[in-house]
Amino acid sequence: MKTIKTPRYDILIAKHTGMCFGVRQAIETTEASLAQGPASILGQLAHNPAVKSRLASQGARTAKLEGKTAPTQHVIITAHGASDRDRKRWHKAGYQITDTTCPLVRVAHAKLSKVVAEGYQPIIVGKAGHVEVRGLQGDFPNARVILHPDDIADLPHVKRLGIIAQTTQPIDRVRALVSEVRKQRPEAEVVYYDTVCHPTKDRQTSLHELCQAVELVLAIGGKNSNNTTQLARTARKLGCKAAHIESPDDIHEEWLEGISRIGITAGTSTLDESIHAITFRLQEIGESAHLLSQTTS
Ligand code: SF4
Repeated sequence: MKTIKTPRYDILIAKHTGMCFGVRQAIETTEASLAQGPASILGQLAHNPAVKSRLASQGARTAKLEGKTAPTQHVIITAHGASDRDRKRWHKAGYQITDTTCPLVRVAHAKLSKVVAEGYQPIIVGKAGHVEVRGLQGDFPNARVILHPDDIADLPHVKRLGIIAQTTQPIDRVRALVSEVRKQRPEAEVVYYDTVCHPTKDRQTSLHELCQAVELVLAIGGKNSNNTTQLARTARKLGCKAAHIESPDDIHEEWLEGISRIGITAGTSTLDESIHAITFRLQEIGESAHLLSQTTS
């Protein structure tokens, strides 16, 4: 954990935080492609507006992954992956494809394929409608998605249940749901493959450490970033005040009143620049509060 001292509060940055290798590689590959010519990203490369505008400034266009046409002949599949059905459809339609699917998303697809091949009813612990989950279900339309214990009642009553997880789900939630499935379906044989990616786990573990040391956590990331939302939610569950912010403009100075230690964490699609900008702003606020205090005295 790195500590930055300010006159008013200390800022602690979580040991594991910010952009993961999967999103970083996807951005690098996309930027290299854009340097060669125009390309359309099928969906959002990362759930982060700063990334979107950076790529747009380099000429990236967008199209829907499930759509039929794109404004360029070259299309890019994002780190969240796609179903083989969508991949083949774009290929058949004559588009050149650059596939930046994260290797750890590919692991989730492979494990889902394994449970299906072995005759289990496939189950995904994840958020219905999330692009990664759509890709998984696109390959196996009979896969069921669960996120809460209440969802278990809707699962089919079959003898064999095979569970995997969306890569960015909090591991504690996934384990709790798997236990609950076993409890509610004692007659079924339940297999579980842990497909939560290690960058997500590392960020969650670091957040636990951070919450033991601070009173307020700022989770930095796009408002549509699922894993940043989860980081803020977990921090609250651990007893910290927490806010999910995207830029320095989102900081409310009243949040910082009476706080002596602020923790910083960031989602796996957050640019280093966003973390630096927010840390810098917190240092500025801390400094000006110190000067104000000197003037008052
Ligand atoms: S969050 Fe995990 S699975 Fe998703 S791109 Fe990053 S490393 Fe890969």
